[in-house]
Amino acid sequence: MSEAFDLIVVGAGPGGYVAAIRASQLGMKVAVVEREKQLGGTCLRVGCIPSKALLETSELYEQSQKHFAERGLVVQGVSLDIAQMMKHKDGVVSTLDGGIQGLLKKNKIARFFGHGKLKGTGLVEVVGEAPATLTGKKILIATGSVSATLPGMQPDGDRIGTSTEALAWPEVPPHLVVIGAGVIGLELGTVWRRLGSQVTVLEYLPRILPGVDEHVATEAKKIFEKQGLTFKLGTKVTSVTAVGQICTIQMEGADSITCDRVLIAVGRKPCTDSLGLEDAGVRTDKRGFIQVNAGYQTSATGVYAVGDVIGGAMLAHKAEEEGIACIEKMATGHCHINYGTIPAVIYTQPEIASTGANEDALKAAGVKYKSGRFSFAANGRARAAGHTDGFVKILADEVTDRVLGVHIIGAHAGELIHEAAVAMEFGASSEDIARCCHAHPTLSEAIKEAALAVDKRAIHA
Ligand code: NAD
Repeated sequence: MSEAFDLIVVGAGPGGYVAAIRASQLGMKVAVVEREKQLGGTCLRVGCIPSKALLETSELYEQSQKHFAERGLVVQGVSLDIAQMMKHKDGVVSTLDGGIQGLLKKNKIARFFGHGKLKGTGLVEVVGEAPATLTGKKILIATGSVSATLPGMQPDGDRIGTSTEALAWPEVPPHLVVIGAGVIGLELGTVWRRLGSQVTVLEYLPRILPGVDEHVATEAKKIFEKQGLTFKLGTKVTSVTAVGQICTIQMEGADSITCDRVLIAVGRKPCTDSLGLEDAGVRTDKRGFIQVNAGYQTSATGVYAVGDVIGGAMLAHKAEEEGIACIEKMATGHCHINYGTIPAVIYTQPEIASTGANEDALKAAGVKYKSGRFSFAANGRARAAGHTDGFVKILADEVTDRVLGVHIIGAHAGELIHEAAVAMEFGASSEDIARCCHAHPTLSEAIKEAALAVDKRAIHA
């Protein structure tokens, strides 16, 4: 006997569970199929949330060891209890998982535990301990992504790992090699450096953080090097092996190096294994991402997809927006996401955050723009807090002054960026931001000053 629903969501990450809640709010009878016991997907189980717990804890550890004394705080004997640090992280994840379980219950969403597989029009088979067959008027695939690996570079379940393993190592590796100077490599490389590892980051490209504004990435590299990260750019890793506790990394045109652990952080790929996409007639592109139209509908009637599995920025909040837009389109015929203002944040210290276009993109599009920049070194609050690294950069149209992109490297950039995102959503000019009163002393004043700098009239520069 199969159970019938208006909507079956496969995958309970930020795209899937948020879509399920919105569908329930709009009166649909909803089922969610998820193969992990914990809900929340990569973001909650092995991504955004546990990494932030470790980033916060490791930052406190570093602050107490290196920076308390300069403020007259004398602490002695600070030491690391790594088991407790991991227990705290796991506690955060489990509390938030409980929160999502509660939200599904509150919204009367049926939760099925197992692997969801499309079985033809309107049918999803749940494979696992509690097998079931579900029928749904509509099916939404929100299965996310998994860590990518390259030939010659496979996790070994011990010394060579991806972000999942690097969130749970039981001791601090004396020498950690990170492959890939992208977001994951830098966030998790930073965690282990702060805890005491010597960290070497190997990157194929001649720069770090591909996609991030070039000035910001250059500044970030300088700061991270000062903090103790070692970068080897233009370095193509060809193989990684582990014998006993020693890992060996081979690179093109360079001598091999050895280390205690390796973090492979070379990107992520769509998670579509055994989903039954081909049988269901769901088309994917060359890289395996599910193809959708503007309403998130796939090539199969009644089958939709959102989040990492359809490509674009692999961000939890982008997946959430798509989940909501997809459901609202189903229910009302309308939906809208402004992909041009979705913020992106990298949670290093300083944080790196942006929204809108960067200079390379504007140049490539032939858009004439003005730029205003303001350093946190000239911001009173940043000085008082001891976070003087970094700057705010605002790019505005040369003719209309409309803000086209905002790029921040600095403490709390991940919170500051939302002023810019909201301003851009409302079509603000740099003058609009400059004329808004910003409280003193706050880090946000650096945004106002950068907006003034677009018109070459910053006050404190
Ligand atoms: P990434 O694409 O950001 O970076 C991967 C890096 O690996 C690139 O710089 C690439 O040039 C390099 N690389 C590839 N092959 C290599 C080789 N053979 N040798 C050396 N370097 C090589 O990927 P990621 O850091 O793994 O992150 C995956 C996805 O998850 C990204 O889309 C990211 O945006 C997302 N994510 C976001 C956040 C956040 O928003 N804070 C956090 C974690 C992950």
